[in-house]
Amino acid sequence: MFYLAVIFLLIIVFILEEILLLKRFLNKNFRNKEQLLVKIDALDKELSPIKKNIDALEKQMSEHFFFYDLMRKLSPFLNKKGLFKVFSEEIKYLGEVEAVEFSRPENEKKYLQFVFDDEGSSLYVKTTSKKIIEHQDVLRKLLELCTERINLYDRFQQLSIYDALTETYNRRYFVIRFIEEFERAKKFSLKLSFLMIDIDNFKKINDTYGHLVGDAVLKEIAKIIKQNIREIDSLARFGGEEFSLILPETDKMSAIVVGERIRSKISERIIKAFDETLSVTISTGVGSFPQNTLYSDVLMEIADKALYQAKISGRNRVCWF
Ligand code: GH3
Ligand code: MG
Ligand code: MG
Repeated sequence: MFYLAVIFLLIIVFILEEILLLKRFLNKNFRNKEQLLVKIDALDKELSPIKKNIDALEKQMSEHFFFYDLMRKLSPFLNKKGLFKVFSEEIKYLGEVEAVEFSRPENEKKYLQFVFDDEGSSLYVKTTSKKIIEHQDVLRKLLELCTERINLYDRFQQLSIYDALTETYNRRYFVIRFIEEFERAKKFSLKLSFLMIDIDNFKKINDTYGHLVGDAVLKEIAKIIKQNIREIDSLARFGGEEFSLILPETDKMSAIVVGERIRSKISERIIKAFDETLSVTISTGVGSFPQNTLYSDVLMEIADKALYQAKISGRNRVCWF
């Protein structure tokens, strides 16, 4: 009995001790937690202005990202039509857009106007969106940069394709066109003719009237030829005073008729250049596919030989084989 009482007492003492330990542990942690909460509260107060700044920054960043993204989407365009279309779609993500017009709308004052170049390319956006109105200058600048790039590209393309003096294709581009047309004719079993045109005694014109008059004559001859061919025909300045002409879907007889028409128009024309008036003649050689040859390089050679024939047989004529 005594032992039992002692064991019971020991158990009680043990339990009391454990409770005490637990209480101390809880007390300590609870105080830590309270302190932590106080600290978090203080930190929160300290962070509050920073958080506000972050919010503003985030807003700004998303706007910056919008413009960056817009620039990324617009910059691949090499034609204004495509550029304007994508632009008018994309600004809808910035704010509500009521209407977009690519030419001057009736009630112009209700629209934001974006004008880009001397050619008068413009875009009209009808909107009440504060964001779009607020950022219209940025949007305008962005479009301006893109249209400038397109204009430069067009200019570059013009320079790489055309002869500046006569505004006909240059030789490099003409050869590309010739191969393309020849391949097309072969593929679809179409006829094709090639004309080599050379101004007669051009050196004499230069020697008599000077190079500036010579240049004006070259321009005028190119103009007359252009007036007497179709849209689908390709004319180039092949060399100094030599022009080459592709007539797609044209057989030899029809090509001779075209060559003869150009020849007579030029010989009849009184050309005025500066203070001079003069008349000029041309010689032309004709080659045709498939009548003369099945090969593109041989076709050129045949037209060249026919031109030589026209020269040696008296000039101002069209020759063929
Ligand atoms: P032919 O009837 O045999 O063709 O005689 P041609 O005098 O026309 O031929 P030639 O090849 O002897 O002379 C061509 C001249 O064309 C020589 C060159 O000074 C002139 N020429 C070439 N390119 C230009 C140019 O861009 N401007 C001017 N003004 N003259 C040019
Ligand atoms: Mg000549
Ligand atoms: Mg020549």
